[in-house]
Amino acid sequence: MKGHLSDDQLEIIQDGGILHQHGKITEIGKYDQLKHKNQDATLERIDGNFVVLPGMIDVHTHICWAGSRIEDYAMRLSGKNYLEIAESGGGIWNTVEKTRKATLIELTELTAQRAQKMLKQGVTTIEAKSGYGLSVEDELKILEAIKLADRNSQADIIPTCLAAHILPSDFDGDENDYLTYITDKLLPEIKKKNLAKRVDIFIEKNAFSVATAKEYLLQAKEMGFDITIHGDQFSSGAAGLAIESEALSIDHLEAADNDEIALLAGGNVIPVILPGSSIGLGEPFAPAHKLLDACTSLVIASDWNPGSAPMGNLLTGASILATYEKLTMAEIWTALTCRAALALNKTDRGILKTGMKADFIAFKTNDFREIIYRQGELKPEKVWKNGSIYH
Ligand SMILES: [Zn+2]
Repeated sequence: MKGHLSDDQLEIIQDGGILHQHGKITEIGKYDQLKHKNQDATLERIDGNFVVLPGMIDVHTHICWAGSRIEDYAMRLSGKNYLEIAESGGGIWNTVEKTRKATLIELTELTAQRAQKMLKQGVTTIEAKSGYGLSVEDELKILEAIKLADRNSQADIIPTCLAAHILPSDFDGDENDYLTYITDKLLPEIKKKNLAKRVDIFIEKNAFSVATAKEYLLQAKEMGFDITIHGDQFSSGAAGLAIESEALSIDHLEAADNDEIALLAGGNVIPVILPGSSIGLGEPFAPAHKLLDACTSLVIASDWNPGSAPMGNLLTGASILATYEKLTMAEIWTALTCRAALALNKTDRGILKTGMKADFIAFKTNDFREIIYRQGELKPEKVWKNGSIYH
């Protein structure tokens, strides 16, 4: 499922209904026909004009953090650059220090609260990365918190190990030594405790080089982890490694040039665009339209984090990206649902059909286009997760 999509390719059922049982969709079609065929079923009828869509899937977030980066944001608005902000105590390291100080219970609560907020907005599956611990002990604490938050909230939270976020400033050694330490000491623990099945790395000038990342990713892959990459945010060159390491996705791509796009077009790595980070940093959007021209897939995620993407509203970010990149409604909705599911290696959600998870959201409107038109301001009236309604 790659390349451009037009709105008339969307399959819309007028006066539709969904039958579900034990958290799964058992039948979908016209309400009257479903009612006629299933006389014994308890049918709940929602009166009024509603558009029902699959629950949204946010494949890239950093919602397990403590503290705030308001200071960074204010400095950025006053014209300070990345280095100046880092030198005055801001940046990722600032969040690492605050997150390390937080207890497991505090982090679990913060993560669960953010997940609930997202669920209210219609996001029923949420990926959440570690990466603000940067030591074996602290990364494990964060992944434990994500696991507990998943248990405490109705949304599914899917954990990813991002211990390779940046080289921690208190680590005694270079980036190679650090990644060896993570590979030897952290990844086996994560496997043993079943805390994550995905590994991510930030490939960038101020983080990890392509050469160092390669060894790490290939080893993680061999240990059975799915791979995803933060790549081409400020400088290009990560697409080749994404393909070589058979990554599920490469996320960011603001700096992806035509060569990178051509590489991605020839492989199966899914491009994930993060408009929230472009909006938060005041940087250009990733070339979403060009990627679709080259016939790649396309997923949109929020990148919700305290530094570069503080908004945490997937639908608003996607709607704004669409106006700049000229994405159709069909391209946006698939980027938030069925195409997104594949970036998380999930085939049981993201589309409303028999056998899929009963994750769906209802917006009060009679025209599905109004949801994107209102740029995230129109919120779902009802949200179902695994067949249970969340108010
Ligand atoms: Zn990120």
